Order: sequence, then structure tokens, then C-alpha cells
Amino acid sequence: MDNSRNVVVVGGGIAGIQAALDLADMGIHVHLIEKKPCIGGKMAQLDKTFPTLDCSICILAPKLSECYRHKNITIHTLSEVKNVKGERGNFVIDVLKNPRYIKEDVCTGCGDCSRVCPVRGVYNYFDVNLTTQAAAYIPFPSAVPPVYLIDGEKCAYINYGICELCVKACGAEAIDFNQKEELISIKNINSVILATGYDLAEFENPLRGYGYKKCKNVITALEFERLICASGPLGGHLKRLSDGKEPKKIAFIQCVNSRSYKAKQYCSSICCMYSAKEAMIAHEHDNELESYIFYIDVRAGNKGFQKFINRGETEYNIRYVKSKIAQIKTDAQQNPIIVYEDFESAKIKKLKVDLAVLATCIIPPDGIEELANIFKIDLNKYNFIKTDPFYPVLTSREGIYTCGCVHEPMDIPRSVAEASGAAAKAAESVREVEI
Ligand SMILES: Cc1cc2nc3c(=O)[nH]c(=O)nc-3n(C[C@H](O)[C@H](O)[C@H](O)COP(=O)(O)OP(=O)(O)OC[C@H]3O[C@@H](n4cnc5c(N)ncnc54)[C@H](O)[C@@H]3O)c2cc1C
Repeated sequence: MDNSRNVVVVGGGIAGIQAALDLADMGIHVHLIEKKPCIGGKMAQLDKTFPTLDCSICILAPKLSECYRHKNITIHTLSEVKNVKGERGNFVIDVLKNPRYIKEDVCTGCGDCSRVCPVRGVYNYFDVNLTTQAAAYIPFPSAVPPVYLIDGEKCAYINYGICELCVKACGAEAIDFNQKEELISIKNINSVILATGYDLAEFENPLRGYGYKKCKNVITALEFERLICASGPLGGHLKRLSDGKEPKKIAFIQCVNSRSYKAKQYCSSICCMYSAKEAMIAHEHDNELESYIFYIDVRAGNKGFQKFINRGETEYNIRYVKSKIAQIKTDAQQNPIIVYEDFESAKIKKLKVDLAVLATCIIPPDGIEELANIFKIDLNKYNFIKTDPFYPVLTSREGIYTCGCVHEPMDIPRSVAEASGAAAKAAESVREVEI
């Protein structure tokens, strides 16, 4: 490998994956750094995607395996950047790799370790903690890398020195309890692409008024994606979490925790579209279902988006209620009651539904300030990465590019387009240094 042609991509969501693939196809070696046990980001958790209603993982899975097999991509999972030295053309990047306790190059992905593991009840982050699993697990069936890991905080052997059932069960002899945190130094990095995506403002105080966590039938939009997904905890048969009944009336609430002076003041930009999509998918599961979308205004600016919204109203029984939510109450049967100011009649009204789905605000990813300090780049007033207004892939520092939701909320097509833009800039930088 020619070291002068290295680029580091931080974040293995769809944006980071696309940037890595573009660069690798140009013959540039990429180190893809992902803090989770596998790559894929939020797109891997979605059921279908707007505006085409294609299956999300069906589009993503070929890209995941291409990344895994590409000779010009080295994937570092469970890894985070800790230190950066140098400048464009010659960065040195220190990466902390956390132990997997399973040898990545030996594990066959058979799952025997998980089957015998006596520790159960470990929250499954991939299912947004709606399910639990064993301490030895793989996040989802088509995960990349296709290998298991052991949760070091929950494993009985690591914490108490008892049990070694997985060691005995693993025919490939892949279990390795001697693995420790490891600091690796990646040298001769020409440039960096930051693609660490976003988080959701699920657990912030303003959500309490919406009944979230008080009422089991008030869920977030990402939870909805997992519940309706065939690979999710309910096998794709949408049911209420309180009593297992199929919902017949669903309210989708827009702008939760955003566009408000009390919370985040910006628009998350994708919720109008994904809420319409979620209502459509729910209707495809049960064509008698009624959906209500509570909105301030509909922002469907891209090509074909307004048509998508219109189709929702005419073909999928979606009713739009221009309103401002005051509160979501709960009755004794755990039915959410939406209390809202109806903009048309200028009256306070109530609607009892079976399920309420919250479009929670998109926020910068956890650890963004530390990342900005390490890379010495600026953040904007909302703590997203600050970019050049005319070149959205340029950060405040030469040789550090960005793409996807880490600099502002956006959908998958735009994340992919930007990823290719960031990859082109990084490739240009590699070629300039070569000349
Ligand atoms: C409920 C919901 C439904 C949606 N539906 C659609 C849809 O139908 N169509 C559509 O176009 N868009 C949809 N979106 C938007 C879509 O999820 C985003 O556009 C897309 O995921 C952005 O990709 P990304 O790579 O920028 O970020 P992410 O998907 O967030 O990926 C970022 C990756 O970076 C990793 N990471 C974070 N911090 C670090 C760090 N410090 N070091 C290393 N790695 C790190 C994360 O673990 C993650 O793997 C939806 C969003 C939500 C919330």
C-alpha cells in the first residue's frame, strides 16, 4: 500500500460508506473509523426509505459488503479518534480500538457463543433498546464485519471470572478475553472526511410533555421504524407495546423538540417526509388504518416530495392537521390523547389515538465537541460542523472535509451526493500532494 494515498473517513453511516467507496474505487486507501461494532449507521435501522419506499437494508447491504471486501478499505470498528497531529498531506491519527473479545479474523459468525451465553437482558442498541439480547451478540444479521462481539460490561467471565461457556462452544477458537484497549497510530494521512452523522433528542426534558416513557404507546419515529420492520422485534407486525393490540388510529407528531424557542430552534428537515412514509407503510400493513399528521407546515421541497405527500393523502388515508401540540395525555387503557391547538378553527381540541409517533429533533452526534477539538475545526451555533456556505463539504480547516448529517440534518440521497463531493475533494488533495 502506498501510504501517501491514505484518507481517513470517520463515521461508517451511509455518508462515510459512500465516501470510502468512491475513494477506494479511485485507488486511494481508506481507513474507515466507526465507533459502533459495525458499519451502516441509522440507515441500517430503517424499514423503507422515502421517496421510493424501497427496503432500506436491501439498498445498504451491497454497499456494506463492498466496503468489507474492497482491497482499498480498512474498517476499524469499536474505534474512535483520540489525537491528530500534522496537517493536510501528512496527518498522523491516533485511534483507540476497544476490545471485541472475539477475534475478527477467526470468527465464522455461527452464533454458537450467543446461544450458550447465560447472560441475557443486555439492551440491543440496534433495536433502539426495545429488545434485549445475550452478552455475546451480533448487532443485526447482515452486520459488517459479519462477526460477533462480547459486551465487556455485562460478560460474566470478564466481570466475575466465572463462566467460559462461549470459549467451550466456539469451534473456531475465536474468543479472546485477553484483548485490551489498543491505541493505533495511522500515519501519512493526506486528508480526513468527518461523517459522524446525528443523534436524536429523545431523552431531553421537553419530551416529557409528550408523554414519552410515561405512556408505552407514545414512541419515537426511529422506534416505529424498528417495530414495523420485518427484521425488528415484532417481525414487522405493528402492535402496541402496552397490550399487543394492532393500532387502528395513529398520530404522527411533527417538530418534536424543534422549531421552538424552548427547545432547538432549527428545522430537522427530514421529518415531514419520513412521517408521511411511516404512515404509508403502516397503511400498507392495514388498509383500514387512519393516520393523522400534526404539523406546523409541510416542508417537502425536493423533487417529487410534494407529490409524495399528496399521494399519502389521496391513496393512504393520511389526514393533515395544521396545529400546535399542547400536550399528550394518557387514559387508563394507555391510549394517547393528543391535546392541540387547531390552527383552522383556532380552538383547543383533543384526539384519542391508539399510538402516537414523535418526530424528535435531529441533534449533533454525541462527542461532537471532543471531535471538533481533536481536529481543530469550528462548530456552528447549533454544534453541527461549521461548513463553507458555498462549499458544504469544506470545514474551517484545510484537509478536513465533511458530509452527511454531522453538519446539518439531511436525507439519504443528499448524504450520498455530499459524500461523493467530499470524496472528490479528498481525492483532489491526494493528487495535488502527489504532483
Ligand atoms: C426515523 C427516521 C427515518 C428516516 N427515514 C429516512 C428515509 O426514509 N429516507 C431518507 O432519505 N432519510 C431518512 N432518514 C434520514 C437518514 O437516517 C439520514 O439521512 C442518514 O442516516 C444520514 O447518514 P449519515 O451517515 O450522515 O449519519 P448516520 O446514519 O448517523 O451515521 C453516522 C455514523 O457515524 C458513527 N459515529 C458517530 N460518532 C462517531 C465517532 N466519534 N467516531 C466514529 N464513528 C462515529 C455512528 O455510529 C454512525 O455509524 C430518517 C431518519 C430518521 C430519524
